[in-house]
Amino acid sequence: MSHPANEPILGYEPGSQERESLQSEIDRQMAEIIEIPCIINGEEIYTGVTVPQVIPHNHGHVLANVHLAGRDEMEAACAAAVAAQQEWIDLGLEGRCAIFERCADLLAGDWRMKVNASTMLNQSKTAFQAEIDAACELIDFWRFNCHYARGFHDDFQPLVSPEGVKNSTEIRPLEGFVLAITPFNFTSIAANLPSAPAIVGCTSIWKPSRNSYHSNYVLMQLMMEAGLPPGVINFLPGSGAEITEVSLANPDFAGLHFTGSTATFQGLWQEIGLALPNLRSYPRIVGETGGKDFVVAHPECDRQGLLVALLRGAFEYQGQKCSAASRAYIPSSVWNAISEDLCSEIGKIKMGDARDFTNFMTAVIDQRSFDKITGYIERAASRDTCTIICGGDSDDSTGFFIEPTIIVTTNPTSETMVEEIFGPVLTVYVYDDDEFEETLRSCDEASPYALTGSIFASNEEDIQTAYEALRFTAGNFYINDKPTGAVVAQQPFGGARASGTNDKAGGPLNLLRWISPRSVKRTIDVPQDWTYPFMGADE
Ligand code: NAD
Repeated sequence: MSHPANEPILGYEPGSQERESLQSEIDRQMAEIIEIPCIINGEEIYTGVTVPQVIPHNHGHVLANVHLAGRDEMEAACAAAVAAQQEWIDLGLEGRCAIFERCADLLAGDWRMKVNASTMLNQSKTAFQAEIDAACELIDFWRFNCHYARGFHDDFQPLVSPEGVKNSTEIRPLEGFVLAITPFNFTSIAANLPSAPAIVGCTSIWKPSRNSYHSNYVLMQLMMEAGLPPGVINFLPGSGAEITEVSLANPDFAGLHFTGSTATFQGLWQEIGLALPNLRSYPRIVGETGGKDFVVAHPECDRQGLLVALLRGAFEYQGQKCSAASRAYIPSSVWNAISEDLCSEIGKIKMGDARDFTNFMTAVIDQRSFDKITGYIERAASRDTCTIICGGDSDDSTGFFIEPTIIVTTNPTSETMVEEIFGPVLTVYVYDDDEFEETLRSCDEASPYALTGSIFASNEEDIQTAYEALRFTAGNFYINDKPTGAVVAQQPFGGARASGTNDKAGGPLNLLRWISPRSVKRTIDVPQDWTYPFMGADE
C-alpha cells in the first residue's frame, strides 16, 4: 500500500506569498477578541464563566474570552461522547478516515494561515516553529494515522483457518470514551490526542491546556467544517482536575491520552487506579511526559555541527520542547575550542514579538513558567559549582522574555543537569577528554527522564559505544544531530522511564492502544455428533 508523503514546509522568506498572507492573518486576529465556547455534541456552549487568553510576548493583549466548562458541561460532554460512539463505529474506518483526511487537506490549504497565526500569537511561536508544528506535523499526524489504521485490518487477520472454519479479527475500538488532556507547547499534539483514538472508532473529551485555547479552538472548528459528527470530539476548556474527576465517575471512561508533565501524569495514573472498581473496562493509559534531553560530544567530532545543534536544540521555541537540549557533556578540548564562538552566536539571537520575522526567539508561555525558569537561573547563579557564561537576564514587563542562557557546571548532578526546566537554559558539564565512557554512564544515571538525546562523534566505534551505553537513556536517539525535530513517519516519537509510556505518537503503536480486537470463529462444517473418536471401546 503506498503511503502519504510528509507535508512540505513553507519557507516564509521575505517577499513570499505565504509570508504576506500569514502577516495579514496575524493582523486580522490581533484586531479582534473572540469568544471561545465549550463544544459539546456539536453545540457551542457559552457558560459565562470566562478567563482571558493573552499573548505571552505581549501579555496586555487579549485574544479571546474563554468560556469554562462547569460540572454540568463536563457530565454532558461525557454523555455525548458515549451516545455518539455507535454511529461513529457504523461509519466504518473508511468513512472516518475520509473526515480526517479532509481535515488534513483543509489545514494544508485554506486553514493553514489561520492555524499558524493563532499558534504564533497564542503560544508565542515564530513563523517557522508554527509552520512545522501546527501545520506540517498535524497534517502528517492525520494522514499517516489514517494510513496506519488501514494497515491493521490486513496485518492482524489470523494466519490459519483450517478447512470448515473461517477465522477473522474485528478491529474494534475501545468501548467508551477517551479523555485527551493536552499540553500547550504543540498545537499538533493537542489536536492529535483526541483525534488518533477517533480514527479507530473511539469518541473523546478534549481538555486543552489553558495556554492554548485559541489555537486549539481554531482546530476544533476546522474538524467540524471537515464533517466531524457531533459528540465524537467534545471540546472542554476548564479545570483538568475536575474534568478528570467527572470522567472517572463515568463507568464508560475507556482511556487517557495525555501529553504534559511527569508529575501531572503520575497523579492521573494514581487516580485512575483508584477509580478502577467503578469502570466497565480496564482503561488504556498513554502518556508522553517530561524530558531532560542530552547532547554528548566525543573529543573527535564535528565541532561546528555541535555548536549549531546546541544552539538550535536548546533555544528554538525558547527551550519549551519536551525534546529540547538542556544538558550537554562536552570534552574539555572541544569546549575550549567552541565555547567563545557559541556565546558569540547566542549573542546574535534576536528575541521579541513573534510578528517580527527577524526574531529567532520569543517569550515563554506564562508568568508561572517565567518564575519557575528564572528561579532555576537564580539558584544556579548562587552556587559555587555553576557559572552563567551567557544570558541569565529576564524581563516580564511586556512579555515573558528570558535570555538564552548557558550555565557551566563542575557538578554533573547539579539541579539544572537533572531536572526539567522547560525554558531557554542549557547546562554544560565539561569532562576530561579521556573520560568518554564514564561520561556516558553519568549521562545515563543522572536524570530520571529518557526522552531524547544525541551523540556527536566522528568515529564509528565511538558512536557504537554511545549507542549501546545509552540504549535506555532516550526513546529518540540522534547521531550527529540536535535532539529535537522528530518528524512523523520518520522518527516516531516518545520516551520511557519518567518520560512516558513510549507509545510513539503518530505511529501504528499508538493507534493500537485504542483498539480492542474481537476474534471471530465461523464454523462452516458444524459438528453433528457430540462424541469423540477416542471414546470408542477397545476391540
Ligand atoms: P502540564 O502537565 O502542566 O499540563 C498538561 C495538561 O494537563 C494541561 O491540559 C493541564 O491543564 C492538565 N493538567 C494539569 N494538572 C492537571 C490535573 N491535576 N488533572 C488533570 N489535568 C491536569 O504540562 P504543560 O506545561 O502543558 O506542557 C509541558 C510539559 O509537557 C513538559 O513537561 C513537556 O516535557 C511535556 N511534553 C511532553 C511531550 C512528549 O511527547 N513527551 C510533548 C510535549 C510536551
